[in-house]
Amino acid sequence: MILAPTTDNITTCAVVLRAGGVIGMPTETVYGIAASIQSDEGLQRIFEVKGRPADNPLIVHVASVDEACELAADEYHSVLRKIAALFWPGALTCVVPSAKTVSPRITAGLSTVAVRMPQHNVARALIEELGCPVAAPSANRSGRPSPTTAQHVVHDLGPTIDVLDGGPCTIGLESTVIQLGMDTCTILRPGAVSREQLTQALGYAVDEATSHDDLRASPGTRYRHYAPTCPVVLCEHEDQLLRLASSYRDPIMVLSEHPFQNLPHTAVASPLSESTIYAELRRADDLQLAAILVLCDAAVQRREALMNRLSKAAGSGSHGVSQ
Ligand code: AMP
Ligand code: MG
Repeated sequence: MILAPTTDNITTCAVVLRAGGVIGMPTETVYGIAASIQSDEGLQRIFEVKGRPADNPLIVHVASVDEACELAADEYHSVLRKIAALFWPGALTCVVPSAKTVSPRITAGLSTVAVRMPQHNVARALIEELGCPVAAPSANRSGRPSPTTAQHVVHDLGPTIDVLDGGPCTIGLESTVIQLGMDTCTILRPGAVSREQLTQALGYAVDEATSHDDLRASPGTRYRHYAPTCPVVLCEHEDQLLRLASSYRDPIMVLSEHPFQNLPHTAVASPLSESTIYAELRRADDLQLAAILVLCDAAVQRREALMNRLSKAAGSGSHGVSQ
């Protein structure tokens, strides 16, 4: 059921979380499916409801820096506080060596934990009301694009899940995930917080995870993600896209930053943007379109987080099932 984010409903949702249930939670990035980090039953339920492989760790969402530090190894508190002062609340997840108390259900048995303080008021109000952090991966079924509205969550996970309605997500792509060392930072997943912003704020070089070992450090990056049912094709040039568009007999979707001339009249044309991409991928499935063609010209190719998700939706650089 979709719940208005009233004080009463937030209180009720915190009761559900305490009792080992899960709740659909709005954040500024995408909707999450939240469980209390103190409930093994709730954490287990996340994996069941999503169909998530057990080897893919969960991001813990906190309402204060102190809560984040409790999850991290002592020697990493100062690193976390520094990052938090610069970027939290916000779309930045920090992977740091974990405290011994963190459940292996959260870390998937790794020695690290991923933490983030969301900006969304409803998310923070829920965590504060609960009195402890929540683990919350994206609230989609395996293989689906991440949800950016409460309706998407109900569509994927069914009417039995209660979802707090925080409106459409303002960012619309998952958080940037960074792995922190004492004075090193590696981007495991690009997001709204860019490498340039991180480099400038931290004052040292920030790496991109490209090696096999780096990617093994973040199991989620191994899986196929963000894919609608219909094929997604990325085109670099307008003429290439137009040629391809005219080869389909059935209606298709065309996503581009600027409006397109000369498309087949049956094509559904939509603007391409970070905040609406997942909603559009879902709409193409709902309309049972034959394909989604995306114009990825030079300007779009510079939008790293968007390109990362589009490439995965198009099926490149991915293995196995999605998250
Ligand atoms: P999701 O919450 O579904 O958007 O995915 C969470 C992402 O964070 C996945 O790519 C995970 O692999 C990554 N992640 C979570 N915890 C850790 C961790 N301890 N170490 C490395 N990556 C992590
Ligand atoms: Mg996910």
